[in-house]
Amino acid sequence: MNSIRKSAEIIIVGGGIAGVSVAYHLAKLGRKDVLLLEQGSLTCGTTWHAAGLVGQMRPNRSMTRMSQYGIQLYATLEAETGLATGWKQCGSVNVARTPERWIVYQRQAAMARSFGIEVHLITPRAAADKWPLLRTDDLQGALWFPQDGKANPTDLTQSLAKGARDLGVKIVQGVRVTGVSVLNECISGVTTTAGPISCSVLVNCTGQWARAFGAMAGVNVPLHSAEHFYIVTERIAGVHPMLPVMRDPDGFIYFKEEVGGLVMGGFEPRAKPWGMDGIPEKFEFQLLPEDWDQFEPLMKNAIHRVPALEKAGVKTLLNGPESFTPDGNFILGEAPEVRNYFVAAGFNSAGIANGGGAGKLLAEWIVGGEAPMDLFEVDIRRFGPYAAGTDWLRERTVESLGLHYAMRWPRQELESGRPLRTSPLYERLRARGARFGSKMGWERPNWFGPEVKYTLGRPNWFDSVVAEQRAVRNAVGVFDQTSFGKLLVRGRDALALLERVCANSIDVAVGQVVYSAMLNRKGGFESDITVQRLAADEFFLVTGSAQPVRDLAWLRRHAVQGEDVHVKDITDRWSVISLLGPNAGAVLAKISLEEKTRALPASYVGGPGWELYAPVEDAAALYDRLWQAGRDHGLVDCGYYALDALRLEAGRRAFGAELSPDCTPFEAGLGFAVKMDKPVEFIGREALRRAPRGELAKRLLIFTFPATELFAWGGEPILREGAPVGELTSVGYSAALGQMVGMGFVHGANPERVEQVLASRYEIEVSGVKVAARASVKAPWPK
Ligand SMILES: Cc1cc2nc3c(=O)[nH]c(=O)nc-3n(C[C@H](O)[C@H](O)[C@H](O)COP(=O)(O)OP(=O)(O)OC[C@H]3O[C@@H](n4cnc5c(N)ncnc54)[C@H](O)[C@@H]3O)c2cc1C
Repeated sequence: MNSIRKSAEIIIVGGGIAGVSVAYHLAKLGRKDVLLLEQGSLTCGTTWHAAGLVGQMRPNRSMTRMSQYGIQLYATLEAETGLATGWKQCGSVNVARTPERWIVYQRQAAMARSFGIEVHLITPRAAADKWPLLRTDDLQGALWFPQDGKANPTDLTQSLAKGARDLGVKIVQGVRVTGVSVLNECISGVTTTAGPISCSVLVNCTGQWARAFGAMAGVNVPLHSAEHFYIVTERIAGVHPMLPVMRDPDGFIYFKEEVGGLVMGGFEPRAKPWGMDGIPEKFEFQLLPEDWDQFEPLMKNAIHRVPALEKAGVKTLLNGPESFTPDGNFILGEAPEVRNYFVAAGFNSAGIANGGGAGKLLAEWIVGGEAPMDLFEVDIRRFGPYAAGTDWLRERTVESLGLHYAMRWPRQELESGRPLRTSPLYERLRARGARFGSKMGWERPNWFGPEVKYTLGRPNWFDSVVAEQRAVRNAVGVFDQTSFGKLLVRGRDALALLERVCANSIDVAVGQVVYSAMLNRKGGFESDITVQRLAADEFFLVTGSAQPVRDLAWLRRHAVQGEDVHVKDITDRWSVISLLGPNAGAVLAKISLEEKTRALPASYVGGPGWELYAPVEDAAALYDRLWQAGRDHGLVDCGYYALDALRLEAGRRAFGAELSPDCTPFEAGLGFAVKMDKPVEFIGREALRRAPRGELAKRLLIFTFPATELFAWGGEPILREGAPVGELTSVGYSAALGQMVGMGFVHGANPERVEQVLASRYEIEVSGVKVAARASVKAPWPK
């Protein structure tokens, strides 16, 4: 047995790319007392058999910034550590077989340019110039990313480990962590095969073991393993070390050069889950048996795309397990369940590409005490207990692996593992023609009408959503918003806690409702909530459907020791039915509410409206009574697509889209909800004091523009005087305006006054078409 030290400030468990990257970046930030424990030897889990493709394009600006950093790191690490990383900037060619894929590529290219990535849309012939073995007669075109590349995963990990060691990190191999100690909901140490070690921070980088490892401390890390394949061929004439990576997503396959031959792998549409009875403790440098039946569809597609493969000898069919998450994004951040317990895992076959950037972000999170930037898509707090079930995870993994290369349609919903969480109105709404989407596990009506036919153009639910919008503006719409997050904050010090975390003043009369930002220390949004004061020491918080886990963790973390305050997630106990529109009051006046039901005058879409909070057991009866009462007032069932378009035209921002840790209330145009002069020092105030207000380098604007044949779906570049300055964070068709309405941040090189920003000419680039847009800071509705 190894003898080992008795304490370390930070313990990292797992010596794959994720663990060593976190270690390296912690050391770079000056943390010396860092101990990395690996049960086998470095890379022995999944990292050693990765193919090593490293691309930089991600679906949004902040994630792309992360992967761009990774590439920079891989390109320069050897010079720093003296150990090669195998990094080769060979570029990548992504080919499109279908016209729809080609449109998606045009959108991606526009977005990439807006993010500052070099990208070219090229013809099939130009693709063949870069990749001579490519069959091109059925291609529409290709995307060329000259800065993408490939690395050797083992060398890269060893090089990062060397860099970490050189800066003082201790790496111990052959020691397994067997238990995690938690004291007062905070990490206090671990037990290992070499004895106990105390620590104040723990980082779970255990790859496909991360779920079981997390469970030891009650931490939910929702991931599941699946078998994942590639072949390695003998040498093929014309294949050289700088041959670009090539992806053919319509065939679900990728290719890269290795030792003069090709590595060809892919993401089959229906994956094969693995590890149903748990991941074996000892699985070092191990692989799974070949499965040619599972691989055959990929092989067929590959021979079609690269006919030379037919005659090439196959050296290996490699089958290695990798972990996948329910939404295809990795899992990063401080666990909501245990303080100072951090996770970087579930890399969905992109751990090499994302490892560098993710390690840096997590190290900054650990050292800085809060997420260093907008990490909404990967934040561990986007999941909740709903995502913990093994069967559910397994079912979802079959689908989520395939999503990597499958054609993704705008607003496409995942289908597996549903329904999971349903409102008491679910069956009634279904009977009335609701088409559901899912958020945080909840089934939510998106619209009432025809079954979706996915398209890049005008969707087949368009007319239904327009009719719903009209009902809300002219009569009354009823919405099931049961998925809203709901928290109860109670205790003698409840007000003190809320005043500290909220930027608005919460010390209001009992019964009153306040909208407030919760800010981080940089003055950026951690969340936005409405707070109803129920009693002197009791508050009912309503937050977005995706926010209760993060908000609960944030509140608990900011309670000071000794304070009498209890925060509880009571989402599942309350249904929310909203009546929105000019006739809402008349409908409500016709019914009497149960004693426990609370009616709050509120409307997220502007105009008159009521939110009814009813215990779940009363909700269905309430809905039936509303329907009876509403019949003569033009009541219409409405869904979230109408809600989203309506809130956009009314200028309401949404957390996760417009609002994020990266923007301040001033930049988001929500300065009115900040009480700078309230008597309590709230988190973020100091930063806001220093933050510019009149002249800003980044500002949220609202754009209106004509609808185009290829619809705008979000992410479209905003062009200012012809140059990209940001992207639309949300967009929808406004029936009231007869136009598209979108929001997005305009970034400038220098701070400017709002008049200067608005004086420019704006266009929105929708699938390659530049559409003139009107920019405003004010909501376009009511006109
Ligand atoms: C076939 C295949 C091809 C791939 N191709 C690519 C690619 O081209 N590009 C790309 O970016 N990614 C690719 N990947 C994905 C990539 O390999 C993974 O995402 C990445 O290696 C995950 O790294 P990790 O550090 O999270 O996990 P791992 O490398 O598995 O590291 C986790 C470590 O934790 C250790 N551990 C677990 N439990 C304990 C414990 N209790 N105590 C101590 N140690 C413990 C394990 O031994 C293991 O070494 C591919 C994966 C596969 C399977």
